Amino acid sequence: MTMTAITDTDPAKLYNIDTLEPYFTEGQLQERIQAMAADINKRYAGVDRLVIISILKGSFMFTSDLVRHLDMPCQIEFVRLASYGAGTKSTGEVKPVDLTLPDLNDKNVLIVEDIIDTGLTLHFFMHYLKSLHKIRTLRLAVLLDKKEARSEEIPKFPVDFVGFEVANEFLVGYGLDYAGLYRNLPYVAILPEDQTVPATPTQ
Ligand code: 5GP
Ligand code: MG
Repeated sequence: MTMTAITDTDPAKLYNIDTLEPYFTEGQLQERIQAMAADINKRYAGVDRLVIISILKGSFMFTSDLVRHLDMPCQIEFVRLASYGAGTKSTGEVKPVDLTLPDLNDKNVLIVEDIIDTGLTLHFFMHYLKSLHKIRTLRLAVLLDKKEARSEEIPKFPVDFVGFEVANEFLVGYGLDYAGLYRNLPYVAILPEDQTVPATPTQ
């Protein structure tokens, strides 16, 4: 059997925004994000500082749109975690690419994430933060929640601020990529299967 890697395939066949149907339009996303920001402003009313930790790369657009509606002093930090590799299924393993963070002792921390799927990434990251810092409050703001896809093996945890619940489909756009592409779209769409490289055994 031959190996299929994304780099072996003609990119023109993979990348086609004309066949994408918006799942959430730019307007729907922006309206919901403003409402989420209003909830966050209410919850943190009066705090001297909110430390936002944005999980890259997927959350860059959501973070940048959300924080412009927040009205408390915000300290914005970034970490980079990877779990999907180049495919459309979680690898079941979180790869910490960059976890550089300042001291978070006694801080109010809000993790900002694009999408929760199995829950592995956020479970790993919250556990990591709590093991290193005595955080005052730790909450989660997640734009898209694939509720049905949560792994049974991961202890349940609440998502404090959710944008939308979504079906168990592979989504692209608004920060979410396939093989590094589509992140720049201002809307979210389902990626049709014929625009992906079929997963084949590597031998
Ligand atoms: P989890 O660890 O909860 O299974 O997955 C979370 C991470 O997987 C997200 O941060 C995101 O990077 C990636 N992910 C999950 N679902 C999707 C999806 O539908 N599309 C894309 N592009 N990435 C996803
Ligand atoms: Mg992500």
